[in-house]
Amino acid sequence: MQHTTSTAHCHRCARPLTSAASIARHYGSHCRTLIRAATRFLATTAFADKPRLVAKAEELIEAGGIVRLRGQVFWTTGSSGDTYLTHPNACTCMAGLRGKHLCHHRIAAAILAATYTPRSTTPAPVPAPAPVPAAATQTPHAANRHTMRRPIPLGPPPASAGIGLAAA
Ligand SMILES: [Zn+2]
Ligand SMILES: [Zn+2]
Repeated sequence: MQHTTSTAHCHRCARPLTSAASIARHYGSHCRTLIRAATRFLATTAFADKPRLVAKAEELIEAGGIVRLRGQVFWTTGSSGDTYLTHPNACTCMAGLRGKHLCHHRIAAAILAATYTPRSTTPAPVPAPAPVPAAATQTPHAANRHTMRRPIPLGPPPASAGIGLAAA
């Protein structure tokens, strides 16, 4: 299959890019939105204390310097033109091999990897679910789970239930 040299593809989803703006940014607008959201999320959670590295990771992504190989493994391009294999937890660049410091390649890989992850399984630290009070179960599913434990409402006690002093 032959493509003209002007055919550009999204670095995330590999769809052909048609607009000049998308071609210049290496990603289609939908994928850019996902990447922006993942960047914002990780910049305020996992990498909240690494704003400079997050900025460098964003630059790398915007420059088209990271391409997915498979799964969570990406090719990244170093400033000197070297290419590295990068996973959110490991990188073959100098800093990555020394293993002492987080490199921006890994942050870029984490950002892109997050865009492939359904929202519900985003690797955010999720606290254990708190027990839901029976009164707060509104959804049918949750209600079913709690039906067995919920006490049967008894209603108000009968007014004249044998308390003889009531009408004094
Ligand atoms: Zn795309
Ligand atoms: Zn690296």
